[in-house]
Amino acid sequence: MINEEACAHLKRCVTLAREALEAGDDPFGSVLVDGSGRVLCEARNRVVTRDATEHPELVLARWAAANMTLEARAQATVYTSGEHCPMCAAAHAWAGLGRIVFISSSEQLSEWLVQFNAPAPPVRMLSIQEVAPGVAVEGPVTALVGAVRELHEKRHRVNGKKVLPITGSFER
Ligand SMILES: [Zn+2]
Repeated sequence: MINEEACAHLKRCVTLAREALEAGDDPFGSVLVDGSGRVLCEARNRVVTRDATEHPELVLARWAAANMTLEARAQATVYTSGEHCPMCAAAHAWAGLGRIVFISSSEQLSEWLVQFNAPAPPVRMLSIQEVAPGVAVEGPVTALVGAVRELHEKRHRVNGKKVLPITGSFER
């Protein structure tokens, strides 16, 4: 069950995803929150405007590894607009971060990409738990899935036509 605080963090992820879309990147956003509920770091997808591996979850895992103690990382939660891709799930686990709460699942995104006639991503869309079975995961968060789907639809369709291929990322 998602409480009010978690819902606020997830809504912030949607806002970051919208900012990414408006900048020409893929619509994914993520927030890193410490064990006391304080927001430590935010990131949005920059796979077009920076580099093809710049997924927000990878940015947060690297930030955490560089700036937090092992104990603090284990207590932290990453909120994210879409489930981590395998690259980001692995980075999250290697960094020793705690819980993940995502809005839409990789399975949902896979279905949407088919519906939008977008090319399949270059990486198999495994669930977080297939990549990092020790990480506690919560999602999808049904109340916000529609907002995330809408951003992905805008990324891939204009006036019902596909205009942009997915750029090396199926992820947030
Ligand atoms: Zn990723």
